[in-house]
Amino acid sequence: MQLESRYRARSLWLDGLTGTLAPRDPLPGDRSCDVVIVGAGFGGLWAAYSLAMLAPHLEIVVLEAEIAGYGAAGRNAGFVSAGMAGEPRVVARAQGFDGVRRTERAVIESIDHVESVIVAESIDCGDTKGGSFRIATNAAQLARARAALAARRKRGFRARTSTSCRRRRSASTCGSPA
Ligand SMILES: Cc1cc2nc3c(=O)[nH]c(=O)nc-3n(C[C@H](O)[C@H](O)[C@H](O)COP(=O)(O)OP(=O)(O)OC[C@H]3O[C@@H](n4cnc5c(N)ncnc54)[C@H](O)[C@@H]3O)c2cc1C
Repeated sequence: MQLESRYRARSLWLDGLTGTLAPRDPLPGDRSCDVVIVGAGFGGLWAAYSLAMLAPHLEIVVLEAEIAGYGAAGRNAGFVSAGMAGEPRVVARAQGFDGVRRTERAVIESIDHVESVIVAESIDCGDTKGGSFRIATNAAQLARARAALAARRKRGFRARTSTSCRRRRSASTCGSPA
């Protein structure tokens, strides 16, 4: 398969791009710079962007083995969510209750930061701040959702809840028949 069609077949996001998906030429040889970042996924590109904003004098080189967005960043669901990676109780074991609060706060603040960059750079990505909606479809899920909600409230976060939200309303809110 040609490189272009291999990349397009890889993800909806890559396939939706106009223009060619040909990677740039490989480095012709040794290259000196101030910072080298390996991998042009969200992690690498965000690091490069932030560094360039903070220290424009730095020469930053991003090396990518395939094409920007080839990894998980180019295949993900596109949610910028306020959910912590990992379980709060695991974070709490290492960093304590306050560590969980600070991590959660940082994740929530990062959403506004991402949005400010989208606006500043006029990134056409269909950004919408719609909140999130958690649905329980059985008693066990409901118990876990309630416990998570209570724990979040204990950590000082506000979240709305409606235990009487029936199937028809949740279906109309999220478009799922589940
Ligand atoms: C199906 C799916 C859905 C997801 N949905 C979401 C979501 O909705 N919201 C969310 O926030 N997160 C989501 N994630 C997680 C998110 O996509 C990843 O956390 C994020 O993309 C990680 O970014 P990264 O830059 O660390 O890695 P990657 O995006 O994987 O980028 C790594 C890059 O490094 C390159 N590379 C690897 N090795 C080398 C090398 N030796 N030399 C040069 N380049 C190299 C790769 O080609 C790749 O382009 C999802 C992930 C998956 C798989």
